[in-house]
Amino acid sequence: MKKRHFPLFAARLCIFPLSCALALLLGCARPAWSQAQPKEGVDVGKPSSMARLVPAGQVEQAAGQQYEQLKQAAIQKNALAPPDDPRVRRIREVARRILPFTPKWNPRAAEWKWEINLIGSRQINAFCMPGGKIAFYTGIIDGLQLSDDEIAIVMGHEIAHALREHARERIAKQVATNAGANILSHALGLGRVGSTAVGASAGLLSLKFSRDDETEADTVGLELAARAGYDPRAGITLWRKMQAANKGAPPQWFSTHPGSANRIKEIERHLPQVMPLYQRALQAGVPVRP
Ligand SMILES: [Zn+2]
Repeated sequence: MKKRHFPLFAARLCIFPLSCALALLLGCARPAWSQAQPKEGVDVGKPSSMARLVPAGQVEQAAGQQYEQLKQAAIQKNALAPPDDPRVRRIREVARRILPFTPKWNPRAAEWKWEINLIGSRQINAFCMPGGKIAFYTGIIDGLQLSDDEIAIVMGHEIAHALREHARERIAKQVATNAGANILSHALGLGRVGSTAVGASAGLLSLKFSRDDETEADTVGLELAARAGYDPRAGITLWRKMQAANKGAPPQWFSTHPGSANRIKEIERHLPQVMPLYQRALQAGVPVRP
């Protein structure tokens, strides 16, 4: 069941659930009503137990410190967008709608002190650090001309990394494979941030996720966006934009988020699981966006 090309995380995608197998076996004996009920939501299996080697609170605390340092560095460069910036309002609105659906994926998320900030930088990048510390760079919003739906896909993806504790697991892996003093503080990036101004190149932000992590974040992110009333099909247009940008100067985003060639196909494969959630959110009266 587990497929581990990379040892850090196993993304288990249940693409052919038992109910589908039964449907094939039973054929027309299956009641008509059930044939019209596609399975809702995605299934990526349980998080890896390896992450437990490192206390979640410690990772979240380190992330909080590093996020604060990045914010301060941005303030000093006059690069932290003010709350009345229309783009800040957009990303905070997207977050406001997505966040209620996060505890389903990680109960700790209900206690996280979420922060959503916009940093002035041409980098095509965004992140959500452990503990719910989100930042978008103006380069990804302006450079890719993101719609609100596409912002929700990016945010859902980043939040999914935090919810599934991919950074915590990477750190646990480093601790497990590197015996020696101070390895945990080194893995957490403590004492290494502060010299890098606005750049996302130190500490927890320099962790590179595995392709399995990426697939999982794409999948969970689609569901988060859909439940919040954002069109999951924007995942396709987002990745086309990313690919087009990649032909010039590769987006910074790719340095920590290695994608696979069939990323769009994977997203298309999960659309039947999340489109009903999106449609239901619309019917429930999600505010109409301009
Ligand atoms: Zn990612």
